[in-house]
Amino acid sequence: MPTLDEALKKISREEIIETSKRLIRVPSVTGDEKKVVHLARDIIESLGIETRLYGPEERPILTATINPEAKRLVAFNGHLDVVPPASLDAWSSDPWEPQLIGDNLTGRGSCDMKSACAVMIHVASIIKEQGLPLGVALHLVPDEEKGATHGTKLLLEEVKKGNLRRPDYVVIGEKSNLKLRVAERGGWSFKIKFKGRATHTAYARYEGINAIAKASKGVLALEKPIDKWHPWIGAPVLSVNAIQAGTAGNQVPDECTISIDRRLIPGETADTVAAEVKKALDEAGKDDPDWCWEIDAPRDKDGKWIYNPANFTDPDTELGKAFKTAVKTALGKEPELFVEWAGGTDGAYYRAAGIQTIGFGPTGEHMHGPNELVYVDTLIDQARVYLALAHHLSK
Ligand SMILES: [Zn+2]
Repeated sequence: MPTLDEALKKISREEIIETSKRLIRVPSVTGDEKKVVHLARDIIESLGIETRLYGPEERPILTATINPEAKRLVAFNGHLDVVPPASLDAWSSDPWEPQLIGDNLTGRGSCDMKSACAVMIHVASIIKEQGLPLGVALHLVPDEEKGATHGTKLLLEEVKKGNLRRPDYVVIGEKSNLKLRVAERGGWSFKIKFKGRATHTAYARYEGINAIAKASKGVLALEKPIDKWHPWIGAPVLSVNAIQAGTAGNQVPDECTISIDRRLIPGETADTVAAEVKKALDEAGKDDPDWCWEIDAPRDKDGKWIYNPANFTDPDTELGKAFKTAVKTALGKEPELFVEWAGGTDGAYYRAAGIQTIGFGPTGEHMHGPNELVYVDTLIDQARVYLALAHHLSK
């Protein structure tokens, strides 16, 4: 049986940097991923690992598998699309020409998340070289930044159809500051309509009820930190992100609608959120005889609000335990769970398909902004943890 120590010694910083640079140099803003997917395929095949493309020719999904017949299969998922560089003036170097400055590797996609994909490819090649008795798949997808319809969602449809082996475990390589990301917040988008009474401005204080004034009170009552905490995921958040009201400059508005984006932690539902909103708004309007509002949101055929609950893989599942051991072994520290200010990842779709899924990736800065960069040391740590995980899972 090959040892983990031997595997860790095979990690090549140079190779990880070089592959990351090659991937970053190919612009691949969402919708234009074909070239970078073909490059990644060529790199993987040059390592003697078989690949297969799924999806349309113009936006292929790249998969590669080692030991497809093994008893258990772990898949590493990364996306090869990136967001646009935005204003080039704000960058201190060309976003498509990566620079290695000290420990920082710059460029669009350096942190989100081509370097992490380079780590996955490197780790796969070491696992293959070692002949580890574990099935290992790479799922390198397009379209993560715009909803995954052409990426991970499509890939999971192929899994469902039996065209691709269903993984037992999935690892998402998005930036996680070397913490275990076992959960992602859910979301509920809803509107609240505040009611008033329209009239001429001249009568505003006589028979008018200004819905904008009512909504203002409502916004102030809702736009607050929420006093709840979950150890895997932190606090829920509510943000009032749009407002609509008013038809004419000389008419008191009779309706004002605010749009709310509420992110949910495990245990929360649309009903629990609606109850919280009611409590806050009842309090805000308790001395107001004209206080009138209602929630306006889509419902399903049974009359239930439509929302996404938080998704998670319990850290005490098989994958969670293996990951915790891997972090201790590879980094010599206690694994941490909560990742601050984390956005959503494709992990949600694997979890929805019933597959144990955990995120673990590097640290960096300025994702989606100018001067994006990743810390190379954390890419090495990512590789160490992935190898320790693979060794643990192949026992
Ligand atoms: Zn990403």
